[in-house]
Amino acid sequence: EESAKVTLLHIDVDHFKEINDRFGHAVGDLVLRHVSKILVEAISAGDVAARLGGDEFAVLIPKDECDKTNAVLDHIQKSLESPIPVGDQALIVCCSIGVASAMSADLAKLLSQSDLALYHAKRNGRNRAEIFSDEMASALATERQLAQDLRSGLALGQIRPFYQVQVDAKSFRVNGVEALARWHHPTRGILAPAHFLSLASYNGLVAELDDVILMAVLADMQSLESQLEGIRVSVNLSADRLNDPELITKLGSYDIPPGRLSFELIETIFLDSLSDHVRQNIEAIKSFGIDIEIDDLGSGHASLLGLLELRPDRVKIDRQLVMPILQSVPSRRLVGSLVDIARALDMGVIAEGVETIEHAKVLADLGVHTLQGYAFGRPQSFADLTARLEQEALEADIACAG
Ligand code: C2E
Ligand code: CA
Ligand code: CA
Repeated sequence: EESAKVTLLHIDVDHFKEINDRFGHAVGDLVLRHVSKILVEAISAGDVAARLGGDEFAVLIPKDECDKTNAVLDHIQKSLESPIPVGDQALIVCCSIGVASAMSADLAKLLSQSDLALYHAKRNGRNRAEIFSDEMASALATERQLAQDLRSGLALGQIRPFYQVQVDAKSFRVNGVEALARWHHPTRGILAPAHFLSLASYNGLVAELDDVILMAVLADMQSLESQLEGIRVSVNLSADRLNDPELITKLGSYDIPPGRLSFELIETIFLDSLSDHVRQNIEAIKSFGIDIEIDDLGSGHASLLGLLELRPDRVKIDRQLVMPILQSVPSRRLVGSLVDIARALDMGVIAEGVETIEHAKVLADLGVHTLQGYAFGRPQSFADLTARLEQEALEADIACAG
């Protein structure tokens, strides 16, 4: 038999703030009492259950032997599965749990280790228990370092836009570009957003990222006004940024050429009924002469009512829908239907993820206006983009002369 350890569980009610906001404090109190009761029932003589404050609880098991912790965890998680009746509804409450054990009862240490395990439990999607390990501590240190790098990278101008061309579906001539963030990392090379977007999001840096990219785009547009004539530039706009109360003021302080710039908003922004705040920001964006596009249409849950209310200038059909159109008749029909909806609402249609000329032809036949994808070019630096545009202008001149 193993000798007894001391184990501490650190328990946090998931989304407690939302429960309070949505159902009121009386229900919040009910939930806390419900969780307390479950914890008290889960432990046995000699153990301690306590409320640490707010929606945080702890369970101390001073003589943890024979899988006792697992039994306690099991009991807690099973009990949480039955819903609490709230009025005529049933509320299911979930908890995240951090677990730490030691041979000696250094409570301060156990508390900080279980807290770290709890942080990982939340980070890994909540409604779960995680057991502290030394790797957690080093992972956290690495993550803090990365977040610090990202902050300084933003401040030092290491994050700049690459541009991917968009072409007219009939002539295949460039009519727009999308700005896509790239981190020119001092040691790791050029990093795509997959490597830093969630880091930015966890650390509340996405709105700043969007701002940095927009400023760089405006500077690029100014430096080469003539080559970019007739070419629209699209910039991605996160939900955070759309929520930013300062957005209008910031946009007002920039020199934005009207009719040249679009913001791409991800589809899921329209899932929720828009807050007044977001509505005002969208109106302000329009008043600055910036177009609105819905990004990744078909990947989330854009509501048709949302589209009707918002009247974006264009929608971008998600590449997941675009890719299968050569083999799949239903996919082709779906894209055709989206084109019809867009037409009914007077919106332009862009297809993204267009990887072959065969795709391009089918999409043009379906009535899509603008194409973007590897078939026409990968995201490239501003210098490469302008070289390409110059080359194409030259070829067009020669074609005209000939
Ligand atoms: P997105 O807005 O859907 O951007 C298109 C992504 O698809 C880009 O990836 C692009 O490189 C990739 N792509 C383009 N053509 C093709 C194709 O033919 N086939 C395939 N398989 N992929 C293609 P990237 O640059 O890695 O960007 C990923 C995502 O990161 C973007 O998806 C966008 O949501 C986000 N993002 C990029 N820059 C910013 C930014 O400045 N702010 C915010 N908030 N998000 C950004
Ligand atoms: Ca986009
Ligand atoms: Ca997209």
